[in-house]
Amino acid sequence: EAKRRGKGTSVCFSDEMGARTAADAEIIRDLASAVGGGEFTLVYQPIVALDDLRMTGVEALIRWNHPTRGLVSPVEFIPLAERSGHIVGIGAWALREACRQAARWRADFPGAGDLSVGVNVAGRQLRSPGFVDEVAAVLRDTGLPPRLLTIEVTETAVLDDEESAAALLGLRALGLRLALDDFGTAASSLGLLLTVPVTTLKLDRSFVESITTVGRQAAVATAVSQMATALDFSSVAEGIETDEQRELIRGLGYEYGQGYLFGRPLPPHEVGDRLQLLSGDSRAQGAQGVVRT
Ligand code: C2E
Ligand code: MG
Ligand code: MG
Ligand code: MG
Repeated sequence: EAKRRGKGTSVCFSDEMGARTAADAEIIRDLASAVGGGEFTLVYQPIVALDDLRMTGVEALIRWNHPTRGLVSPVEFIPLAERSGHIVGIGAWALREACRQAARWRADFPGAGDLSVGVNVAGRQLRSPGFVDEVAAVLRDTGLPPRLLTIEVTETAVLDDEESAAALLGLRALGLRLALDDFGTAASSLGLLLTVPVTTLKLDRSFVESITTVGRQAAVATAVSQMATALDFSSVAEGIETDEQRELIRGLGYEYGQGYLFGRPLPPHEVGDRLQLLSGDSRAQGAQGVVRT
């Protein structure tokens, strides 16, 4: 009966794993064995420099291929993984896999230049004991230079507590970069920008979506860009889908862009194809690896 009512309806029950409905409980149960079962993969979405459209980085995005449900979106299972605590193991897998892959690309395409990799980290993972040590170990084991790793956290993940603050400082001390993801969406204080040691602001896709038609969205995008410049942060705009959005965003001073216009999240071999182009002889082959729009 609980199953028929499905997700999103009133609370059926609540268990110690954080499930609120029977459907949630099933997903949480299956998450427990998904890392061990090899059910996760990562896809990588290009991040480009807006001045020359060169791919300078990628963001690792997790995919869950569930044995019976098929592909389950991270939007669906990451919150459940957070509530149940499974995110700690899943996130550790994703971090290690992304760094391993980035180091591999570096070795395979030495002419492609430095490619950075962004990894999303949930609040609960950030605050879990030993997280900073784990990141240090992954960097050491994979040989990825720390400056090429960007940890992406949302404003809501960065609670105003000692565990978060210590973890963020510890991460920065390792020499990696720290991005505030989906910036502008959460009800956080701008004072966060002065207390959290971030290097990068990622403007949320919702502002880019209607930037060409809604003046108020454009105003926020402008303010975020100006703040990034004034505070010496890098700026990335998410969810760029059209040339018009790209031009406007670039005009506002954003340095980097990400979105379907430049590339969907790609399996590793397709990123390899782009890196192959980037490492080719650019005089002989023209504008290599530059994403044509
Ligand atoms: P995010 O970190 O903000 O990632 C960007 C999301 O926007 C991705 O969805 C991406 O596919 C989508 N996107 C990118 N460009 C466009 C565009 O031009 N148009 C549209 N409509 N969408 C675009 P995805 O892959 O479904 O991931 C959703 C969220 O799940 C991520 O948001 C992130 O918060 C979370 N997530 C993904 N992988 C991980 C992970 O390994 N660990 C954790 N903790 N969270 C993850
Ligand atoms: Mg992200
Ligand atoms: Mg984002
Ligand atoms: Mg987003």
